[in-house]
Amino acid sequence: MKRKLSYLLVTLISVAIFFPLVNADQNINTFREKDELIQKFIGMCQKYPEYASYESIGKTYEGRDIWIFKIGNPHGGRVMWDGSMHGWEDMGSELIYLFLEWLLESNEIAAKQILKNNYVLFVPIINMDSYERQNKNFKTCQYGVDINRNFQTGWRYREPNDYSYAGESPASEPETQAMINAFKKFKPQVYVNTHYGGGPYLAHNENNNSSITEKILERIKTINKERKINPTYSKTSMRGSFGLAIADATKYGANSWLYEVEGGSGCYSHTEHSLYDIKTIYFPQSLPIFIAMCEIAESLVDKDFNSTTKNTDQINAENIPLTNQSSQSQSEVLIPDIEQSEVLIPDYEHSAQYPNLNKTIQYLETPAHVPEFQTKQLIPIIFCSIIFLLIIKTKIKQLNFN
Ligand SMILES: [Zn+2]
Repeated sequence: MKRKLSYLLVTLISVAIFFPLVNADQNINTFREKDELIQKFIGMCQKYPEYASYESIGKTYEGRDIWIFKIGNPHGGRVMWDGSMHGWEDMGSELIYLFLEWLLESNEIAAKQILKNNYVLFVPIINMDSYERQNKNFKTCQYGVDINRNFQTGWRYREPNDYSYAGESPASEPETQAMINAFKKFKPQVYVNTHYGGGPYLAHNENNNSSITEKILERIKTINKERKINPTYSKTSMRGSFGLAIADATKYGANSWLYEVEGGSGCYSHTEHSLYDIKTIYFPQSLPIFIAMCEIAESLVDKDFNSTTKNTDQINAENIPLTNQSSQSQSEVLIPDIEQSEVLIPDYEHSAQYPNLNKTIQYLETPAHVPEFQTKQLIPIIFCSIIFLLIIKTKIKQLNFN
């Protein structure tokens, strides 16, 4: 009886120890509240005040602060990443938090170099008010305003009952104004606007300096090889007009990218992916993008964007279709003709609504094999099996004695 009890005790203790360890991340399927995530960013700033600080760049429609977290060297290459411009697309926000953790706590040489050479600017949650796609301004429309249709460059009118209602006028929304002010104040050399649901793809703005765009793409490919990453995302030659954030960021001097981290319903990332997925699949394949953009931004410090040498002959960029805009001066970027935009430029930022456009996607690399079963999941099963076998063995022995 005593032995039986001790076996039972050992079994219970081992399950109690191993099970939470193995399943810690996998079980987190509920999205984190916006305030909770912001508090985690603030906590990191308080823990590493020599590297990180934060400030408000403006208020949302309902008056909440939109926070920017500034990491690294203020004189370094400036890279801005944002998340949750569409309120329910929180995967970008979680990714950005993992970048922050990696920068400050990984001890990787690449992370330390970025802290030394870059000023990394994270705006983890733009739409702080809503867990829907749009903001909370229902004054003139049914769904609220789609912030990523409300920027100035190529803004176009949409009916108030349009799901992607672009607002009453360009930059009419406080969230949009906050981002434009941040572009003007911090002058990021590289900007990444993250989304979820319409991808996966990584796309550059049509008015980017194409030489810098090519350099970034080449560098991503190289880092992917070094880190043995086969990304699932793909790349299109995005045309960033019709009021997208990337269009305005380019207008104010950034090399701009829209990163649809994953496909799916376009709703909460966390109803479709756990934090475990974000850590094990999306973070590793996004990190080379982050590193490449930091490196290129650093190379542009104190250089006029217009005079950046276009050493295209040094760049081996075959198989990468690019819009031919290299000769276009950044300061001369004009708001495109709206009618022309409608003819030539499909609105496929949220391409789940435009399935045929997925055919235009060209893969940077072969799609990744995503492991569905982690070997470490076997540990508690094996451990428990051994314990049970031992119990049964003892039972049989006892029966033989009797
Ligand atoms: Zn989106």
